[in-house]
Amino acid sequence: MAKITLDNLAHSYLPNPAGEEDYALKALNHVWVDGEAYALLGASGCGKSTLLNIISGLLHPSQGRILFNDQDVTMAPTTQRNIAQVFQFPVVYDTMTVHDNLAFPLRNRGAEASYVRDRVQQIAAMIGMEEQLNRKARGLTADAKQKISLGRGMVREDVNALLFDEPLTVIDPHMKWELRTQLKSLHHEFGHTMIYVTHDQTEALTFADKVAVMYDGRVVQMGTPQELFETPEHTFVGYFIGSPGMNVLTAQVSGDSALIADVPVPLGRNYGTPDGKIELGVRPEFTSLTSAENGLPVTVKRVEDVGRHKIVRTDFQGTEINVIADESADISPDMNRVAFDLAGINVYSDSWRVAPKGA
Ligand code: ADP
Ligand code: MG
Repeated sequence: MAKITLDNLAHSYLPNPAGEEDYALKALNHVWVDGEAYALLGASGCGKSTLLNIISGLLHPSQGRILFNDQDVTMAPTTQRNIAQVFQFPVVYDTMTVHDNLAFPLRNRGAEASYVRDRVQQIAAMIGMEEQLNRKARGLTADAKQKISLGRGMVREDVNALLFDEPLTVIDPHMKWELRTQLKSLHHEFGHTMIYVTHDQTEALTFADKVAVMYDGRVVQMGTPQELFETPEHTFVGYFIGSPGMNVLTAQVSGDSALIADVPVPLGRNYGTPDGKIELGVRPEFTSLTSAENGLPVTVKRVEDVGRHKIVRTDFQGTEINVIADESADISPDMNRVAFDLAGINVYSDSWRVAPKGA
């Protein structure tokens, strides 16, 4: 297992990149701690696979270095990196049995027959394919083939890291949950460094200790699920994580108060006079509907009962503000203001979070 260091790493698919916009992966410094489980989360096209493929060696970066422990592997081929990678679509040997597919990475490295037999049994149990070990892979469903790919990725215990690139895309929803749980228990058992790419926040937040959120070729925040929830460093993180995501409102900020349109909003902390395009970000969990005089005047558009709570969709001068209310809350017609819990307010300048003074 290894600590993986990205040192001023960047990648452009163009031969002569000019500006930053030519980079699929913008300059990045980061250390993936040995033995942690990470998720790389972001929308399609933001650079997740580019980053993963640089780590595995399928792609050589146009700038910077990558180290496994303290060894520079930037130009080393995949075979020398000793990692396992599982892709979005199955990669299996059709003419081999399920058993032989799973055994392949072990036999390839000269493992003992008795070890191979036991380990294949163990992995087959994890992916729920014990009954099909003697079948040829040809003719199996895409779903089953992808389970074999996952099994092949997990079979070796001696890898530096396990990389998964949206591996559950073709798996049916029920099995998804089960396999994710298996991956997590595998991590607890063996303590591999794991990096799991997904565009699905639920997958990322349940699988990983730490989540790296990517946006437009950049890792905009790396943090625990709680950090991503409480202090999104970029408005994209606030918006992308959460259901619904963070409310973002254009504002003017001076000291410890803000103006939204011309309504004063107390902030509870001092932000000085930040430059740039200023916005307030408040999650629906910290937003409430009230009939009090102060607060932003809104129109309630819709109330959705989602079981554990209600989501109230409101409109403030053309901007949607979502409120999460108690399941038992009565939403009465005179509740036409929203107020913010001071603990849940974040201030943003040009989309990046501004730290309050003295914090
Ligand atoms: P993700 O995995 O997050 O969906 P990718 O890393 O695949 O994103 O892609 C990031 C950006 O790089 C996208 O704009 C994509 O079109 C571009 N890209 C990916 N692979 C190639 C390639 N082989 N050649 C040129 N551009 C590519
Ligand atoms: Mg991808």
